[in-house]
Amino acid sequence: MPSALPLSAALLSLLTASPKAPAPAAVTGPSPQVAERLIGAALTEGHAWARLAELTDGIGSRLSGSEGAEAAVQWAKRSFEADGVKVWLEPVKVPRWVRGEESARVLGSERFRAHPLSILALGGSVSTPAGGLTAEVIEVRSLDEVVALGDKVKGKIVLFNHAMREAMEYGKYAGLRTRGTSVAAKAGAVGVLVRSLATASLRSPHTGAVRYDEGVERIPAAAVSVEDAELLHRLLAGGPVKVELKLGCQTLPDADSFNVVAEVKGREKPQEVVLLGAHLDSWDVGTGAHDDGAGVAMVMEAARLIGKLKPAPRRTVRVVLFANEENGLRGGRAYAEAHAAELANHVAALEMDSGGFRPVGVVLRAGPGGAELVRSWLRPLEALGAGSILQGEAGGADLSPLLPARVPFVGVRVDISRYFDVHHSEADTLDKVDPKDLAQSTAAVAWVGYVLAEVPEVLPRPEAPPTEAPKAPAAP
Ligand SMILES: [Zn+2]
Repeated sequence: MPSALPLSAALLSLLTASPKAPAPAAVTGPSPQVAERLIGAALTEGHAWARLAELTDGIGSRLSGSEGAEAAVQWAKRSFEADGVKVWLEPVKVPRWVRGEESARVLGSERFRAHPLSILALGGSVSTPAGGLTAEVIEVRSLDEVVALGDKVKGKIVLFNHAMREAMEYGKYAGLRTRGTSVAAKAGAVGVLVRSLATASLRSPHTGAVRYDEGVERIPAAAVSVEDAELLHRLLAGGPVKVELKLGCQTLPDADSFNVVAEVKGREKPQEVVLLGAHLDSWDVGTGAHDDGAGVAMVMEAARLIGKLKPAPRRTVRVVLFANEENGLRGGRAYAEAHAAELANHVAALEMDSGGFRPVGVVLRAGPGGAELVRSWLRPLEALGAGSILQGEAGGADLSPLLPARVPFVGVRVDISRYFDVHHSEADTLDKVDPKDLAQSTAAVAWVGYVLAEVPEVLPRPEAPPTEAPKAPAAP
């Protein structure tokens, strides 16, 4: 728990300063006093950090169907109640995958001695045969390369290597992890190792979901540390390399879980909803501090602060802590289904799921004129360095089922440059989250949530996506 965070006099004066130019006539809602209350409290009270400590140090990892996930649901419900925010649980059936004992090693040869490999089974992977499987490794750098290699892949363990260096490259290589296993299996591979999608490594592997295609044999798949992918690459340059892989993971029957839904009722248009979301589940390694404990802490704190405003904002602010974002997206789908009748009244949705870093700006997915409208509300975020509209589209895995209903999306973008240092790994723990950064993003989320619920105008709705509802996009 950090001590109260200092709010500089300069920042306070910026928050409360009246705009130099007259505000656009239509915008009458957000007042500097409310900005000071919401942003000032988020920056100085340290609640978001305290919440995150309870969730990560108190409960720990929260993979769908686990005891930790259930404990997190009950904790979130109690916390909203303690804050005086109305809360309820909405049922979601979630997949239940459990990691077993796992290991991998390079077998010794006349060229080198045996090496242990640092691995994590990919979420959803099948197990190896009880005694493990041993096969030669074949290294590739793309899905196309697997196809081009044809018969050479048969009976091998495919190593998906890549050159991810920066956070922005995650999307470029994530398909190797999600789709590579089925591509390799189609070509006759017996197992897969994927170089961890990471921007830093102390030999810690980073897991993530594997997606098996229908009708293709399910073969075991694991993430290997960056260092061990490099080792394999060097050894392969000298000739054949054999690896023994043992995975004891298994998929159990679906489990009962919940989306946690809380709301502050609107004073004038309670049927119109501004959704603030994050996902409560995490991977089973680390404690999901950045992914997505930080997002959970931000939106919970936004609800607490907005809930204290008198009068309440014009519209309803609804916080949804989604179940099962990481390995199924069942929470996002269940929400869209259960609330289908009111999605036309969802005037905006925002999901925080990129870590607890400092805010850098706002992104949108709205119809024409949306950016102009939002820009006029962002002045109080300038002191945080988040007062402008950035290139790129707002979104969120759990929000993707809302796309066909043309719900406008808004995002508070954070500085993700260090996110993939720890993402989906044992290193995603509370100490990696800077309390000041978390407080600043919380302030931005509280403010954006408030103005969306308060100003008379609503965002123009975007076009529906060209295809129908997307399946599961690569989860951030
Ligand atoms: Zn996440």
